[in-house]
Amino acid sequence: MTPESILKTTFGFDAFRGSQQAIIETLTRGTDALVLMPTGGGKSLCYQIPALLRPGCGVVVSPLIALMADQVAALRQAGVAAAYLNSSLSAAEQRAVEQQMLVGALDLVYIAPERLLQPRCLDLLNRCEIALFAIDEAHCVSQWGHDFRPEYLQLAALAERFADTPRIALTATADGPTRCEIVERLRLHEARQFIHSFDRPNICYRVAERGGGRAQLLRFIAEEHANEAGIVYCLSRNKVEQTAAWLREQGIAALPYHAGLDHAARAAHQRRFAREEALVVVATVAFGMGIDKPDVRFVAHLDLPASIEGYYQETGRAGRDGRPANAWLLYGLADVVQRRRMIEQSESSEGRKRIERHKLDAMLAYCEICSCRRLHLLRYFGEQPRTACGNCDTCLAPPETWDATEAARKLLSAVYRTGQRFGAQYLIAHLRGERDERAARFGHTQLSTFGIGADFSPRQWGSLIRQLVAYGYLDVDLVGYGGLRLDERARPLLRGEQALRLRRDRKAHRPSARIKRH
Ligand code: ADP
Ligand code: ZN
Repeated sequence: MTPESILKTTFGFDAFRGSQQAIIETLTRGTDALVLMPTGGGKSLCYQIPALLRPGCGVVVSPLIALMADQVAALRQAGVAAAYLNSSLSAAEQRAVEQQMLVGALDLVYIAPERLLQPRCLDLLNRCEIALFAIDEAHCVSQWGHDFRPEYLQLAALAERFADTPRIALTATADGPTRCEIVERLRLHEARQFIHSFDRPNICYRVAERGGGRAQLLRFIAEEHANEAGIVYCLSRNKVEQTAAWLREQGIAALPYHAGLDHAARAAHQRRFAREEALVVVATVAFGMGIDKPDVRFVAHLDLPASIEGYYQETGRAGRDGRPANAWLLYGLADVVQRRRMIEQSESSEGRKRIERHKLDAMLAYCEICSCRRLHLLRYFGEQPRTACGNCDTCLAPPETWDATEAARKLLSAVYRTGQRFGAQYLIAHLRGERDERAARFGHTQLSTFGIGADFSPRQWGSLIRQLVAYGYLDVDLVGYGGLRLDERARPLLRGEQALRLRRDRKAHRPSARIKRH
């Protein structure tokens, strides 16, 4: 039997996709492999076919116990001798599966990681012939990732205990650091790596400066996506409900979805979304798992996502049919402050917070970037694309930049002289020389920074403040009242040792007629 013949006769497909064939050959030969492939890319065949080609039983480690029964049923349908071992089996059923393994009657067995590492199970594996180990959702081994599972760490033991058995680790989410951690922790130094592009060329990435939120969303939907399906992500359940109700009042078919709705309502809304052509679902991130609707024409974010991984996963639900789709994000200073506050006020360990700050910084850099957004995204996932994409807002309408050195120094000085305890509104009024009761009471009208920025509009100062906070020159006092403080990083700027170029914000706009398809 060859890989091709199994592909055709057992699975009913005509040709391999991408590097499936190369992965299958690698594993069948007995070499380890690490596979990064987006969801839906076809990872399962990469270990199922080698398990059929090699003598013995293939052992698939998967944390998704709920999916095991379905996967096994589908394989049996195709004539593959498959089974699973997890906590849902009775003792008798479990013994039956073990017996089949011992006599070599199984091609594939799915096992939950915590079970695999029990002495009883390891002992069983020692007495069976094992074709290979497939470690699915391998990012679960990474503390850097968002889905860490301690039991995955123990899978390292497989490398020594079964030194002659090839292993394959697979994941759909892995940036550079996560990938290194997978290699390190699962001892896959000798593994051949198969990294697939995560690019979704038909999705146009856009970030709009927040100004009125809802109204901007309505205009975006009405002008570009009338009578089309889309997902609008919001941070809170409350905002989901309000936004969905408001859209309905504006004549747009919209339904809410969040974990606070009862099971029946969620299932009903999800079903309607799958079936209907022109429905907008307003949702928290709870919406998405298992959504496989090909004609989602847009994904809008009304709040800033916490990380690029999350953002990419959510936007990835748009345009699965390959036709043009929009990923549209609203962003402003309040988002930065809110996300920073969520991190600092969370119960996480200091180590975890440090990781979350890093992830947020990468997300902020994505929002503020003046060059191709797609390049930023793909580089985050470890790819090295060379050319700008031509299908994101910064490519379609390159933002102007300006020398913000002087203005930044004025602002930072004003922050310093007013005592590092005031928020953006106060500082803007101060710089523009607006006399009010507070300014007089604090004696700030006497300061040299009072009125030195009258040539800038409040909006221009607001844009500068947002960018200085996003880049970490200014910190927000998250415990007190949100006053702005100088960060260590601001020093060279204040001393005139560093120049700063920033993007010039424009009014929210559509970058090009190309995106419009009607
Ligand atoms: P992943 O685990 O990467 O998310 P799956 O292994 O579940 O992806 O495969 C996604 C879908 O693509 C499945 O419906 C599968 O049957 C199909 N598929 C995989 N490989 C091929 C192929 N070579 N030709 C056609 N369909 C394929
Ligand atoms: Zn681009």
